[in-house]
Amino acid sequence: MKNYIVRVISEQANVIGLACVTTVLVNEACRLHGAYPTACTALGRALTGGTLMASLLKMGQRLALKFEGNGPLKKIIVEADYEGNIRGFVAVPEVDLPPSDENMIDRLIENIRKLPPYTQMLRSGQASESILESIFSGIPYVTLEKHELFYRCTCSRERIEKVLVSLGREELADMIEKQGKADVICEFCRKSYHLGRHELEALLDSLRDQSKP
Ligand SMILES: [Zn+2]
Repeated sequence: MKNYIVRVISEQANVIGLACVTTVLVNEACRLHGAYPTACTALGRALTGGTLMASLLKMGQRLALKFEGNGPLKKIIVEADYEGNIRGFVAVPEVDLPPSDENMIDRLIENIRKLPPYTQMLRSGQASESILESIFSGIPYVTLEKHELFYRCTCSRERIEKVLVSLGREELADMIEKQGKADVICEFCRKSYHLGRHELEALLDSLRDQSKP
């Protein structure tokens, strides 16, 4: 069977539905990379996730997904576009782990099937931990970690200066001449940074110093 994706929409429910078959392209990717079963499964899921997400893009748009960690696979990169072109790789394709106990998987699926609807759980103020407890009912597990989450931006004046320097000498000189300043707004947190003529000239000087033999 060919690989394909179907997208449906319900105007009444204001909901989009997506389903896809990626078996052939995943097999092709795993063959190209010589991926062992565990690496192949991980790459396959990433490719399929990228495929689903890319189908929500507009014509001409593409997306990139990067999974990076300190696990044995190290890194998975996936790129996909609206037209259905998918590619990806895994940093360490030679990873193979023992398969999971099938009975445990069946039990997990059964537990998930018995869960009340998500909105009901959220409305009743059920904590994330108790939802996990229901999913893992009858399956031994340990909590690896629990930590707080924040919306936090890593921008700073130094980073903005680096971006301006990366524009190169010509463009920076042009900016000083035409605008005499730079106003940069961080796209992630909307914080604005203003650099005056003297500051821009200092950046330009630093570029000149670097290029001296
Ligand atoms: Zn920011």
